[in-house]
Amino acid sequence: MAHSSPPIHPRILIVEDEAKTRASLAEGLQMEGWTVATSASGDEALGFLAKESCDLVVLDWMLPDRDGLHVLRHLRERGRQTPVLMLTARDSVDDRVQGLEAGADDYLAKPFAFAELLARSRALLRRPMLSSGAFLSCGNLQLDTKARTAVRAGQQIALTPREVDILEYLLRYQGQVVTREMLERDVWKQPRRFSSLDNVIDVQIMRLRKKIDGDRADKLIHTLRGIGYRMGNESP
Ligand code: CA
Repeated sequence: MAHSSPPIHPRILIVEDEAKTRASLAEGLQMEGWTVATSASGDEALGFLAKESCDLVVLDWMLPDRDGLHVLRHLRERGRQTPVLMLTARDSVDDRVQGLEAGADDYLAKPFAFAELLARSRALLRRPMLSSGAFLSCGNLQLDTKARTAVRAGQQIALTPREVDILEYLLRYQGQVVTREMLERDVWKQPRRFSSLDNVIDVQIMRLRKKIDGDRADKLIHTLRGIGYRMGNESP
């Protein structure tokens, strides 16, 4: 995995109630090769985020039901570290502070130029990779992404290079659903869906799980039947 570069095809959620803005942002980002999902309300966004993974959320502050701040707090309370770029017509210092304190990563006042949104989004997609350091952890499992070694409860775990790649990916998306399609694209680097890889992926995950979880009661790698996998401290 390329640790120093952002995802090649980022998945982004745009939460915006104004249809025209929503459509033009979606179109612009799709033209950049991004995978775009949209929500027209706070509830819709929360519903989407409960089931799907994404690399960035562009979140309008003023929404008809729950406002953007509510959505943001909800996300952070659940431990989701997905970068969030807040959009707002309000540009007072108080608002900005409130948004940042609630866990927004950046802030863009309307009206804005699409080029600026793109530049800031790209910066956010790069940032976690640069600032996350060499270690990723979940419970008592720790992965050193530079040395490419894993330790669970003080015990070193011998992993193949592919297993390290998968483990790193699961850890970066922990708490979120990781589908075989995501692994195929981002770990196996297959630009197109290649379903005969599914079996290979399942076997690799099974081996990885044997090494990471083994007979432990506190499983970290969970299978979501027919959907994919999720890394986390709790049962699915
Ligand atoms: Ca709005």
